[in-house]
Amino acid sequence: MTILDGKKVSNDIKNEIAAEVQKIKDKGEKVPHLAAIIVGNDGASLTYVGSKVKACERVGFESTLVQMSNTTSEIELLEKIKELNEDPEIDGFIVQLPLPSQINEQKVLLAVNPDKDVDGFHPTNFGKMALDMSTFIPATPFGILELLDRYGVETKGKHTVVIGRSHIVGRPMSILMGRKGFPGNSTVTLTHSHTKNITQITSQADIIISALGVPNFLKAEMVKDGAVIVDVGITRVADETRPRGYRIVGDVDFANVSEKASYITPVPGGVGPMTIAMLLKNTLLARERHNQ
Ligand code: NAP
Repeated sequence: MTILDGKKVSNDIKNEIAAEVQKIKDKGEKVPHLAAIIVGNDGASLTYVGSKVKACERVGFESTLVQMSNTTSEIELLEKIKELNEDPEIDGFIVQLPLPSQINEQKVLLAVNPDKDVDGFHPTNFGKMALDMSTFIPATPFGILELLDRYGVETKGKHTVVIGRSHIVGRPMSILMGRKGFPGNSTVTLTHSHTKNITQITSQADIIISALGVPNFLKAEMVKDGAVIVDVGITRVADETRPRGYRIVGDVDFANVSEKASYITPVPGGVGPMTIAMLLKNTLLARERHNQ
């Protein structure tokens, strides 16, 4: 069994990006600039955004964090997005999800300039992805593809089962694994909460990508010997023995499933760090497009 070490691979990617940034600096050009908007003070969201800002510093990007209060109106947020859309200093930006209930998420995603949409959530970018056109691929699926690629995991002709159909992970993942190319050329089954007999489906899978957010959902009896397991789940579970009072748990019962798997991602240290690395990669791409 091989661990798909997202921490190590994401560090390699960050080093590669830092080298690109150095070249940009050596030419006396402006370095990539990523902005992040966060609305409210949800603990997990603040941690994610903090990691993204830290990652920018690590590779030499400029970063701007826009913090808005929990009571921010939709109009105020849309105005801020317009500002970032028009700011020539900003190459790309993200709006951290989830948003407070008074704000319509779809309206917000539609307001982001697709050329600065480094999360790849705008319908224009999502559509381009589905049509195999060059675009910003959402960071988590992009990170999973990169991880499979760097470990040389064969996907062609394999049966990939994706668990969860969210717009940011499961749905794009199912499209990408089924596209022509590598990684891709898989036969894909997309499962969700209405799927019947899910064990029957997962136990036929060569590759399982689990993105539902239910701790230890995927058990050893749901997996065939030699399967490749990618665990996207991140759930905070109360744990008084930890300094923070919680620990992070994935969707996969790692201790037992890892005994049957050929490759498996740990949680933490698997898909999470890859997501941040690919957001940086998309920002580098946004800067290139911006300069064209
Ligand atoms: P989400 O929007 O919460 O959607 C969950 C999906 O799981 C839905 O499609 C739901 O089906 C499906 N589902 C729920 N219970 C199920 C069951 N018993 N059997 C099969 N499918 C079931 O998910 P998300 O935003 O993609 O997040 C999923 C997990 O990944 C969360 O733990 C999240 O924190 C984590 N995440 C991690 C990263 C990372 O960088 N590692 C990035 C994003 C998300 P329905 O559509 O029928 O409701």
